[in-house]
Amino acid sequence: MKEITCKLLVIGAGPGGYVCAIRAGQLGVDTVIVEMAKPGGTCLNIGCIPSKAIIHAADDFAKTVAMAAGKNAMGIKADNPAIDLAKTMAWKDGITGRLTLGVAGLLKKAGVKIVVGRAKFRDGKTVAVETETGEQVIRAENIVIATGSAPVELPMLPFGGKVISSTGALSLTEVPQKLAVVGAGYIGLELGLAFAKLGTKVTIVEALDRILPLYDTQLTQPVAKRLAALGVEVLLGTKVKGMSSNGEALLAETGSGEERRIAADRILVTVGRKPVTEGWGREELELDMDGRFLRIDEQCRTSMRGIYAVGDVTGEPMLAHRAMAQGEMVAEIVSGKRRSWDKRAIPAVCFTDPEIVSVGMSPDEARAAGREIKIGQFPFSANGRAMTLSTEEGFVRVVARADNHLVLGIQGVGVGISELSAAFSLAIEMGARLEDLAGTIHAHPTQSEAFAEAALKALGHALHV
Ligand code: FAD
Ligand code: NAD
Repeated sequence: MKEITCKLLVIGAGPGGYVCAIRAGQLGVDTVIVEMAKPGGTCLNIGCIPSKAIIHAADDFAKTVAMAAGKNAMGIKADNPAIDLAKTMAWKDGITGRLTLGVAGLLKKAGVKIVVGRAKFRDGKTVAVETETGEQVIRAENIVIATGSAPVELPMLPFGGKVISSTGALSLTEVPQKLAVVGAGYIGLELGLAFAKLGTKVTIVEALDRILPLYDTQLTQPVAKRLAALGVEVLLGTKVKGMSSNGEALLAETGSGEERRIAADRILVTVGRKPVTEGWGREELELDMDGRFLRIDEQCRTSMRGIYAVGDVTGEPMLAHRAMAQGEMVAEIVSGKRRSWDKRAIPAVCFTDPEIVSVGMSPDEARAAGREIKIGQFPFSANGRAMTLSTEEGFVRVVARADNHLVLGIQGVGVGISELSAAFSLAIEMGARLEDLAGTIHAHPTQSEAFAEAALKALGHALHV
C-alpha cells in the first residue's frame, strides 16, 4: 500500500481526536485520522451519549410507574406500564449511530482522510496501521495521541460472564432482577440509579465512606436521599472480595468486618478508568509519563517534539469536553496559531437524580487556597419553575471572594440542572462578580432564577427567600 504523508496525524477518533482533526481540516491543515473502532470514541459509542439515553428512558419509565401506583400529585393516571429494554437499546443505538455517522461526515467535510485500523508507532514521525486490506504506513510532521481510556478491572472480578463494565450494562437487552454495582462514582451512580428506576434491585458497594467522593456532601445528600427512596442499598466503606463459589453472589466485607453476600444476576464494576497507554507502540518512543498518564505541557505537547496528546490519555478530569477543548487547541497550534491552555474552569456534571454540577472552586477548596469567601445558596424549593416541574429538591450555590466579589465557584444539585452548567461556566470564564450575576435579568419562570438569587443571597439581599 502506498505510504501517506501528511502534516497532521491523529490517533483515535474520540472527542479529543475527532475535534482536533475537524478543526485542523477547517484550518487547511493536511490531516489524517486513524480509528480502530467507530468514530466518536468512548463518548458517542459506549459512554456519555448511550448512558444519558438510558438514564432518560429509565426516568420516563419510573415516572410512569409512579403514575400507575397513584403517586402522582398532578392527577395523571397510567395503567400497567412496561418496558421493552431491547427496544430501548435499539432506540439508543439509533442515536449513537446517527452521531457517529455525523462525525464521519464532519471529518470528510473538513477534508480529513479517515483510515480504519489499529495504529502503531514505528518512530516519532511514522505510524503503521493494520487495516483490513493490509498495512498502511503514514508519515507525519505532527502526531496527536488521542487513544482515550478503558475501564479498570478488579483482579478478583475480571470482566466476563456476569461481571460487566459500563459497556456491558449499556447493551443489556433484559432488565436484570438484581444488580450489584462496585464503585459509587460517576458511572456506578448514574447507571445504578437508572437500573433501579427500571425495576432492578440495586446494591452499590463503595470502598470509601461516601458516595461520589469528588463532590462535597451537601451536593451529594439529595442523591443519597433519592437512592434510598428507590430502595437502592449503598454499602459504604466496604471491600469486595470476589464472587461466591456458586457464582450467584458478590462477596463483600463491610467496614465493621461483617461479611455480606449480595445476590446478583449481574455485577457492574465501575471503579474508574485507565488511560490507554499500551497497544500503540509507546515502547518505540521516549515519552515522559505523569503517573499513569502521558505528560503534557500547557500546549498539550509531550516530551517529544511534534508529538502531542489530548483527552483521557493525558489525565484528570477524564471528561469529553476537556478532551474536545484540548483537541481544538492543538489543531490551532499545529496550524501556526499561538494558543495555550488558559481555561479558568472545566465544568463537571454528574447525571444522577438529581443532577450535580460543579464549576470552579467549592467552598472547601477556596478556603484551602487561603481565600476569604462569601457563599450564597438558594433552594429550588423557593423557585416557582421547580415547583411546576415537581423538582424542588436541591439548590444553587455561589462562592465568591469576600473582598472584590469575584466568583470563584458555582455548584448546584437539582433535576435538570446540567443545563445551567453553561451559565455557570460562562460566569467563571468571563470573570463575573456577584453583582454581574445579580444584575443580569434571568427569565421567569426558569430554574436559572435560582442562580441570580444565590448571588443576591451572597450579597445579603436575596428577594425570594
Ligand atoms: P476516547 O473517547 O476513549 O476515544 C479514544 C479512541 O481512540 C477510541 O475510539 C479508540 O478506539 C481509539 N484508539 C485507541 N487506540 C488506538 C489505536 N492504536 N489505533 C487506532 N485507534 C485507537 N464524559 C463526559 O464529559 N460526560 C459524560 O456524561 C460522560 N459519561 C460517560 C459515561 C460512561 C459510561 C463512560 C465510560 C464515560 C463517560 N464520560 C463522560 C467520559 C468520556 O467518554 C471520555 O472522557 C471521553 O470519551 C474521552 O475522549 P478521548 O478522545 O480522550 O478518548
Ligand atoms: P469514578 O472514579 O467516578 O468512581 C469510581 C468509584 O469506585 C470511586 O468512588 C472509588 O472510591 C470506588 N472504588 C474504587 N475501587 C473500589 C473497590 N475496589 N471497591 C469498591 N469501590 C471502589 O469512576 P467511574 O464511575 O468508573 O467513571 C470513570 C470516569 O469516567 C469518571 O471519573 C469520569 O472521568 C468519567 N465519567 C464521567 C461522567 C460524567 O461526566 N457525567 C459519567 C461517567 C463517567
